[in-house]
This record gives sequence, C-alpha cells and structure tokens, in this order.
Amino acid sequence: MVELSEDILYDCIIVGGGPAGLTAGLYCARAKLNTLLFEKGTLGGQIAITDLVENYPGFPEGISGKELTQRFKQQAERFGLKILRREVSKVERVGTEIFVHLRTGELLRSKTLILTPGSTPRRLGVPGEEEFINRGVSYCATCDGALFDGVPIAVVGGGDSATQESLFLTRFASNVYLIHRREQLRAQKHLQEKVLAHPKITFIPNKVVEEIRGGDFVEGLKLRDTKTGELSELAVEGVFIFIGLEPNTGFLKGSVKLDDKGYIVTDERMRTSMDGVFAAGDCRSGATGQVAVAVGEGCIAAIEAEKYIEANF
Ligand code: NAP
Repeated sequence: MVELSEDILYDCIIVGGGPAGLTAGLYCARAKLNTLLFEKGTLGGQIAITDLVENYPGFPEGISGKELTQRFKQQAERFGLKILRREVSKVERVGTEIFVHLRTGELLRSKTLILTPGSTPRRLGVPGEEEFINRGVSYCATCDGALFDGVPIAVVGGGDSATQESLFLTRFASNVYLIHRREQLRAQKHLQEKVLAHPKITFIPNKVVEEIRGGDFVEGLKLRDTKTGELSELAVEGVFIFIGLEPNTGFLKGSVKLDDKGYIVTDERMRTSMDGVFAAGDCRSGATGQVAVAVGEGCIAAIEAEKYIEANF
C-alpha cells in the first residue's frame, strides 16, 4: 500500500503513464528518488490502443502496444516506482515546492514534477458522432475491430494512425473505406504503399464526412467532395476516426506555458516555464508521436529532475 500524505515532500511526481512517464519513472526510481506516478486512465496511453508497434528498436518482429506497456511497467516497478490510479486536477508552485492537487481532493507536495499526460484522439465534430459512440463509432481499432467481422467499415484520416489501423481492420471487415480530405495521404511512405495495394482497402480521397447516420447502430455516412462540393452516401456499419490527437493539458491552464494548440512548451532539457517542472512525450510542443522519442524525452526529464533536486534541495 502506497502512503499518500501531505506531510511527505516527494522527490518527483509524474503525471501520466505512457512510454514517456514510465521511462521517467524508471530513471527516477533507479536513482532512488521517492517517486509517484499518477495515471487517470489506462497505462500505456496511445500505445495501449495500438495493435502492433513496429518501429520501437529491440523488437524485430514488432510488439503489441499492451505487451510493451507491461514491460515498461514491470521494469520501472522493479526499481520501486509507485504507480497509482488517480487524476491530477491542478498543479502550482508554492515557494520551493510543487503542489499537486488530485481530483479526489488530496494535496501532495513534491520537489519536482514531470508532466507526461500524452494526448487523446480528436473528434470529427459532425452530427451523429457522439450519438453513435459505442454503436459503430470508434477511436480504437484494437479495442473494437473484432465487432465488425465480415461487414464494411470506414476509416477517416490520412496519417500514420489511419493507415496503420486500416491495415489492422482488414482482419475483420469485409471492406475498409479509407476516407481522406485531401488527394494525398500524409502517412509514412511504406504505410501508404501497403494501404493502396491492399485488396480489402478502398482509398476515397478528397472527401469529408458531413454526417454519421443510422438507427440503433451506424448504417452509413454522408460525404462531401472537397473539390466539387458534391454530396454522396456510403453504406458502412462502423466508422473509425483517426484524425490526429489533442494534448491532455486542460488541467495545466494558468500554470506552465502552453503553445496555441495547448501543447506544453519546453526547452531541449525538457524544462517547462515553471521551475522544477519538466514535460516529455506527446504532450510537448513539437512532439513527433513516436514511442522512441517519448522514451528518450522521459529519460532526459528524469535526469534533469535529479539534477534540479541536487542543486536546489
Ligand atoms: P496526424 O499525423 O496528425 O494525421 C491526422 C490526419 O487526419 C491527417 O491526414 C489530417 O488531414 C486528417 N484530419 C485532421 N483533422 C481532420 C478533420 N477534421 N477531418 C478530416 N480529416 C482530418 O495524426 P495521427 O495519424 O493520429 O498520428 C499522430 C502522431 O502519431 C503522428 O506524429 C504520427 O506520426 C504518430 N504515429 C506514428 C505511428 C508509427 O510510427 N507507426 C503510428 C501511429 C501514429 P491532413 O493530411 O489534410 O492534415
């Protein structure tokens, strides 16, 4: 049982349990810093809902996002990282300390803070989207793909996620319609090539979804051609939306500096605008969305936090 107490001045508190946070946790715990990691949802962040991670070094055959998360967790816990399911609602600097407020009302004090809250899938914002969540609209192919066995589905987006997850979804769906608002996909070349060559995937360029329609479940999409304005219908039983990510930084408003899209601004040493507070991974301004980068940044943030403690406490 981990003791949470306002009377303890922790060495480091980490907010977010994706690859960046778990790596920061590994380094802090191994450096014998008294460290807590808070995760409000599922450990692993975006990789927890990624079927196969193929570009993280050391796994020549690829590794499932779930398995990689478990390995990160086990390694960090072996050195004593304490991982807790809690939501952080506010952070502030008070004198030389960082105050971390939890949604449950508890207040914790720390010498340093590492922010790794990651990002979440962006919504399309069209009629029917909210209404049909869990009834045909999904943001996670790994979680929901198997529900669409033998039926036609659509995937919206043109980046790495949309292409990679379209390929995964061909295991279940009879047809995957990949709908993109432009002529060209923006995904990595090898993903584009695989998608365009796949017999079960139909690429539909220059179209946006105007509406998601159905009865009890999704039955189809209303599409608009971005060049001609022409409207059309597409009959599908599911729609997977992969149109990018938004940073989980709402709880930081008024504390550390954010860029105009809400990502945390840091320098190359992962230092934020607040003394003793560092950020790493997909929440950071300029993030690349790569596990290898998140892991590297988590490592830098932890090393910088350790140096900060040595210099200031
Ligand atoms: P992304 O790279 O930001 O791509 C988002 C796609 O959605 C773009 O094609 C964009 O169109 C489209 N889009 C955005 N808003 C839209 C809207 N309102 N309506 C219709 N389309 C819209 O996002 P992502 O694919 O989720 O990837 C996020 C990050 O994770 C990236 O850095 C990516 O490289 C990384 N990632 C990497 C891998 C891998 O390495 N295998 C796998 C998954 C993700 P435009 O092209 O017109 O802007």
